[in-house]
Amino acid sequence: MEKNYIQASCTSNENSVNLNELNPPQYEAVVSTEGPLLVIAGAGSGKTRTLVYRVAYLLEQGVQPDKILLLTFTRKASQEMLWRAGQLLNESCRRVVGGTFHGIANMLLRKYGHHLGFGSSFTIIDRADAEGIINLLKASLGLTGKDKQFPTKRVLVNILSGSINKSIAIDDLIFESYSHLSEHTKDIINLQRHYKEFKFNNGLMDYDDLLVNWKRLLDENPEARTEIAARYSHIMVDEYQDTNLIQADIVRLMAHRHENVMVVGDDSQSIYSFRGADFYNIMRFPRVFKDAKIIKLEENYRSTQPILSLTNDIIRNAAEKYAKKLFTQIEGKQKPRLFGGRDEKEEALFVSRTIADLRGKGMGLDNIAVLFRSGFYSYKLEMELNSSGVNFEKRGGLKLTESAHMKDVIAFLRLRVNPIDRLSWNRILLHLDKVGPVTARKISAVLSEAGSPGEVLAKYPCGKAWAQGVEGLSQLFLSMERESRPAVLYELVWAYYQPLLEKIYRDDFPKRQKDLDQLKSIVAGYDNLQDFVDDTTLDPPESAKGNSSDESERMILSTIHSSKGLEWDAVFVMGLADGRFPHGSVRDGEQWEEERRLLYVAATRARKYLYLTYPRELMTPDRQFKKTGISPFLSELRTGLFERLDRDGVRENSGSYSTPDTMILHEKGKKRKLSVEELNKGVRVKHPFFGEGVVHEKPKGRSVDVSFQRHGIKTLHLDYAKLSIV
Ligand code: ATP
Ligand code: MG
Repeated sequence: MEKNYIQASCTSNENSVNLNELNPPQYEAVVSTEGPLLVIAGAGSGKTRTLVYRVAYLLEQGVQPDKILLLTFTRKASQEMLWRAGQLLNESCRRVVGGTFHGIANMLLRKYGHHLGFGSSFTIIDRADAEGIINLLKASLGLTGKDKQFPTKRVLVNILSGSINKSIAIDDLIFESYSHLSEHTKDIINLQRHYKEFKFNNGLMDYDDLLVNWKRLLDENPEARTEIAARYSHIMVDEYQDTNLIQADIVRLMAHRHENVMVVGDDSQSIYSFRGADFYNIMRFPRVFKDAKIIKLEENYRSTQPILSLTNDIIRNAAEKYAKKLFTQIEGKQKPRLFGGRDEKEEALFVSRTIADLRGKGMGLDNIAVLFRSGFYSYKLEMELNSSGVNFEKRGGLKLTESAHMKDVIAFLRLRVNPIDRLSWNRILLHLDKVGPVTARKISAVLSEAGSPGEVLAKYPCGKAWAQGVEGLSQLFLSMERESRPAVLYELVWAYYQPLLEKIYRDDFPKRQKDLDQLKSIVAGYDNLQDFVDDTTLDPPESAKGNSSDESERMILSTIHSSKGLEWDAVFVMGLADGRFPHGSVRDGEQWEEERRLLYVAATRARKYLYLTYPRELMTPDRQFKKTGISPFLSELRTGLFERLDRDGVRENSGSYSTPDTMILHEKGKKRKLSVEELNKGVRVKHPFFGEGVVHEKPKGRSVDVSFQRHGIKTLHLDYAKLSIV
């Protein structure tokens, strides 16, 4: 089975790569094989395609395949790209290294981690595991208890991870973004130290550690740096806008010897800042690599002109962007269409009917996708599609390995490769009758010190009430220690765990057993347990959501985040209601801009048909129905860019909404209408997030440019930015 990085196999080539299939700037990017290169371009301009051709071209030029490193956002993306590169070369057989930053980090750290004091059998933990450790530590450090208002494990992991991904110290992060928790700063810093120690002592690494330790290998250890940098002569990165500072440093250090590094990205599509991604990495690239060549691609090959006009206009309103202009030669008759359903049900009905129409006109289901901001926005639609017998696959939801029963089973397998992992021991021991947290902690402390867990358990001085449980566990581990085949190991674990599953999850164990059956078939594809265990956290399979068997043609329902880089003939973007997109909690500032880019990513996935839909009524958290309008990102678009459909799907007009020439001034919950005239240049205003500022430019339409002392010039939307006049 594949590892969490891939080495594509290719053989000697007879056909040469046809570079005529590239436009001039794409061609230049492909043949500029030496030195740093930045390709910055809008959606659908062929960035990914250019990378594919470049891999093929490098191979054709005689570059050793295992000297090429291709870093992508998902492993699937690099698999596809390398497959396509292989096609261009007529299946030549070579070994290009491709994968995600985390996958490559894992591979390198298993080989070179000893330079940092790590064994090669460390276990990678996911977010839920990290939260589990934090909870254990909170208890042992005495930070829990009714009288203590200590933050939850979720918030704590956000803080610890945020500090790493944004490369800022914990106390600065708390000061900036969690000031209400400032009284706990000392305890949080102490917790961070213990968390680090716990991971190190138990052979665990979280996602952030993979990146941090990769960087440390390059930064702190000259021997490892020389060896690793010599492995690759050409480095390429797709979706560079979604890298964080550590990843940018890794790229710099990896390329320090030759500087043959090409990154491609689109700052307007940066949608992962909540994970610390920083699109300034793109802007910084020419400063880090002094002689960097910059290539812009301006022709869009994906979308029709009416779609492109609309998507260009979405991003035109962005506060900050690298100026790009895109054109397309693909004409199109149909403008993007907007439909407002009376409620979510009517919205879903519209989408499902339109899909039926498209299919009636001969469009294949696999050319259609429905995108939404959050997984639960599509429930009504899923019901509609089920009842009309339309096959679909849902992407971007829960990972298969995130649920408790899956974690239980994986814990046994993890321990087979890394027996000092106390987190997994704790999980397993707590399932034993009459074993509580204190006993579990004692046993796992002994287990993580000594050699064979089976033997240690057999000799453990047990209490009467729980001796039998420990004996059973000892037998399991003794038999596991004699076995290395993943499928057989799984069977051993399953024989032990099945009765527990039925006992612990009495109400719904049949459903959970189905998940475990899926896991069983996944394990069977591996011949190395370490690879399987790595993949359960690095590239976890998604829960099989949908209603179709594997072979049938089906459409895609996906979160926008999971649709990055992809394209379909017809795309529906649902849930574009005010208060839902952007989410009601987002008012302005960075997050507001990120939501705008999210809409841009969604709309730019469409080739021929784009449908934007919203419900005119939403249910509030307290189960009241509330009328709502369209997303402000749509209402600020120029007139004439989309057609509005009425309830029967008939075109009503072809314009955007007229908006009053006044703004709403929010004042402690009261709203006062303020005329635009009050905001002349130089007027002092106050914003709840950016603080005090001065109107920089008289409002144009419904946006005003304000110059803030600490944040520079921001373009604010009059209806939504809670501005007040000082
Ligand atoms: P995104 O920003 O969404 O990731 P991208 O810039 O990576 O987009 P690609 O996915 O590489 O764009 O290309 C978009 C579409 O345009 C693909 O179908 C691709 O095959 C096609 N395309 C790109 N360049 C050309 C070209 N020179 N000739 C023909 N088709 C092209
Ligand atoms: Mg792309």
